[in-house]
Amino acid sequence: MNKRGHVWNAILLSIGVGVVLEPSLSRETVHSIGEVSVPILLGALFPDVDTAIGRHRETFHNLATLGIVAAYPIVFGNLHFVWIGVLSHYLLDLLGTKRGITPLYPVFVWEFEFPTGVTVDSKFAGPVTLAVTGFELVIVAAIFPNHVSELFVQASALLGIA
Ligand SMILES: [Zn+2]
Repeated sequence: MNKRGHVWNAILLSIGVGVVLEPSLSRETVHSIGEVSVPILLGALFPDVDTAIGRHRETFHNLATLGIVAAYPIVFGNLHFVWIGVLSHYLLDLLGTKRGITPLYPVFVWEFEFPTGVTVDSKFAGPVTLAVTGFELVIVAAIFPNHVSELFVQASALLGIA
């Protein structure tokens, strides 16, 4: 996916993750979105650093890179949530583009791709980006079912339905 697709994916995913993590639909929800947004955006932009250094879709498009980024909060106590952006970047490249990623680089330079991909400048790039983002949000919701129930309660109360 091109940079624009990754940026929109990160923005929408950040809002979704922020809301699911803090479903009270209060000031804390805005705080939660703020907390995850810049880290997720940074993570979503990071893998394409390999367009400048190393080989594109190889050097930073693999599980080793994801593992290193995901280890930062545990080892150094920083870069929380950045791994979500990196993982999302991989999913978007994998599901949304003709070319895939090289998950096992540097051990095997084997490009794993998915038949759902479109070319990055295709008119379907936008819809595919939205579809992949929706898929990711379904996964996030499935991880936090209680938060999603709470979100529905809060949203109903806010809309005066309940
Ligand atoms: Zn990429």
